[in-house]
Amino acid sequence: MADKRDYYEVLGVDRNADDATLKKAYRQLAKKYHPDMNPGDKEAEAKFKEATEAYGVLSDPDKRRQYDQFGHAAFENGGGGAGGFGGFDFSGDMGDIFGDIFGDLFGGGGRRRANNGPMKGANLRASVNIMFQEAITGCDKELEITLKDPCTKCNGTGAKPGTSPETCKKCNGSGQVVMTQQSMFGMVRNVTVCPDCQGTGKIIREKCPDCRGTGFTSSRKKIQVSIPAGIDDGQSIRIRDKGEPGTNGGPRGDLLVEVRVARHAIFQREDMNIFSTADISFAQAALGGTIRIPTVDGDVEYEVKPGTQPNTRIRLKGKGVPSLRNRSVRGDHYVTLNLKVPTNLSSESKEALRKFDETLGGSGTKKKSFKEKLKETFEG
Ligand SMILES: [Zn+2]
Ligand SMILES: [Zn+2]
Repeated sequence: MADKRDYYEVLGVDRNADDATLKKAYRQLAKKYHPDMNPGDKEAEAKFKEATEAYGVLSDPDKRRQYDQFGHAAFENGGGGAGGFGGFDFSGDMGDIFGDIFGDLFGGGGRRRANNGPMKGANLRASVNIMFQEAITGCDKELEITLKDPCTKCNGTGAKPGTSPETCKKCNGSGQVVMTQQSMFGMVRNVTVCPDCQGTGKIIREKCPDCRGTGFTSSRKKIQVSIPAGIDDGQSIRIRDKGEPGTNGGPRGDLLVEVRVARHAIFQREDMNIFSTADISFAQAALGGTIRIPTVDGDVEYEVKPGTQPNTRIRLKGKGVPSLRNRSVRGDHYVTLNLKVPTNLSSESKEALRKFDETLGGSGTKKKSFKEKLKETFEG
């Protein structure tokens, strides 16, 4: 314990911090470094121990006074060495602190506390594939999933008809037991799920043959999914009450359906906007003209302005993706005009182009030789 950090520094609080501040600081560190959250991470474990030790001292008014007066020396010679913490007693208050902190840290009723009351069932996940266009217009899909339902034979008790579940003797039906454990922090009292009944508070001697004692039967069910216009790839739709059944009379969980939108051959999407390219000919670019542009609403005619440059981007307002919240609000469709340079020209076309070029001063064609110029002069 040569260079131990200052306890206040460990928790990141100042020396006048009140109990609430200390607790808040410790909660944050404990959440971040708890070994359950960082399996196998030695550094996190060390940080967690350090924070726990600091909080163990500073949350106790007597120990805090001693620490404020003597620093770490206050505890160095007194300990029984439990868990290498200079003799701190983690068996008393710390148990409550842990229950308090980790009770809701893990979502309440999940890991450390059994819950014998009504509990909502778990959510189920599924996915559905749709076409690009279906995401624009919205669509209805049918999904087949395996759903659990309370067993009708035993009414969900799991016990063979004619028998009934017995109250668990280990926990007297509460579903939880208090365990005192030697852990790396010393003695910790933990309230845990009863190992005999897995928290149900009941023991089934003779299992229902239909559900093998689980109280549930599974079957394939068809579910209608209404996919709203504007949905994007990777977004999920929540269908209430189509998840796992609840326990002890709790409501069913939800079904979360992830929507996967296929790519489109010519349209790309970014949020509510659509992007594509359209070819225009050299003559259309120079002279202007009408082109047809495919959009998600069908082809539109667009008037290209004379003198349009390559890669000009035009905007088709309101031809994008509808907003999920309000389908009358729509994004835009941006079209990049791609100038097609003609290839495989006929000799007639070539001649026309040369003539055209000459009218502009012959920038692109081969320079005439002196001899040709002389010939022109005398012939003309
Ligand atoms: Zn059954
Ligand atoms: Zn039990």
